[in-house]
Amino acid sequence: MNSRRNFIRTASLSTLVGVTGFETVFAGTKDKKKKPSGKGLKLRFLPHDLLLKHTFTIANSSRKTTPDMLTCLEFDGIFGYGEASMPPYLGESVDSASKFLSALDLSQFKDPFQMDDILAYVDSVAPGNCAAKASVDIALHDLVGKIMGQPWYKIWGFDPADTPNTSFTIGIDTPEVVRQKVAEAAPYNILKVKLGMATDKEMVETIRSVTDKPLCVDVNQGWTDRNKALDMIHWLKEKGVVFVEQPMPKTAIDDMAWLTENSPLPTIGDESVQRLPDVIKAKGVYNGINIKLMKCTGMREAHQMLTLAKSLGMKVMIGCMTETSCAISAAAQLSPKTDWADLDGNLLISNDPYSGVQVVNGKMTLIDLPGIGINNLQKLF
Ligand code: MG
Repeated sequence: MNSRRNFIRTASLSTLVGVTGFETVFAGTKDKKKKPSGKGLKLRFLPHDLLLKHTFTIANSSRKTTPDMLTCLEFDGIFGYGEASMPPYLGESVDSASKFLSALDLSQFKDPFQMDDILAYVDSVAPGNCAAKASVDIALHDLVGKIMGQPWYKIWGFDPADTPNTSFTIGIDTPEVVRQKVAEAAPYNILKVKLGMATDKEMVETIRSVTDKPLCVDVNQGWTDRNKALDMIHWLKEKGVVFVEQPMPKTAIDDMAWLTENSPLPTIGDESVQRLPDVIKAKGVYNGINIKLMKCTGMREAHQMLTLAKSLGMKVMIGCMTETSCAISAAAQLSPKTDWADLDGNLLISNDPYSGVQVVNGKMTLIDLPGIGINNLQKLF
């Protein structure tokens, strides 16, 4: 406890030093002794392939690693950390992220608080590259939060006691492995099941043979017949399923709207909803949306999507890719205002260079550290 207290004290102290430094930079010409350093934001990045504890299988792919890029944004001796997780099916790679991040000139920005301008510039440099953009956005939030000495959930005015339970994902696998994964998920109050294969009912029955915890279901666009999908949702409701995520292809908008209208369970759009304008399009097609930082370019747009979806009366879940504790802790800052969290991506990897938000009794538990609330364990930068 003492060491934790000392750490926090040290962190606060370094923040104070940071603020002093910041004021020095912007003291202007009033005091000639304090000249602006003139230095802008400095971005560095480092590829860091994530090693998965289990081979991960969803409806249309299977893999053992996830390509990942770690970022570090420096301003006046303060460091903010970010990350781009790039599952291959989303079309980004270490190469594309390197190219994108190399093309950025962040040294032109002398004030990290001008987040709107900085992130609009980052978004304008090239289309797509959403994870690469998120890696800058997260690092900038971490940096600015550290300069202010506050975590983002506080800056946004959220109560950390409101964080939801987070689900633990069980991928498609043999009954034996599924039972083992359910045992690993003992600390969680809600399980997420990946469906969209011929073995869907078998998967659910296998899980039900070992636990009666609430389930949520992610079909990853795996069902193509709306009538069969509706029958399946009725069956899933009887099995204690709470909601159904992306049951049909993202292009099947009319079928999906019909399914949502008739479904006894809430439907959530994931692949259908990437960025802010997609929230409006999802209204009437889904009951809710799954926000992920890697899809929507980061925390700033995620916060806007959350606000918009809530104002439209929609449910919101906050999800993730396979990620380190960096992006997971960043996403967790938004979680107090969401209905469900699915932030287990860091628990699926064996080489996490950070620590941050923890799951305690199945609930996301935010840490009172400034920025995105992480400790840099390996000092890779
Ligand atoms: Mg999903």
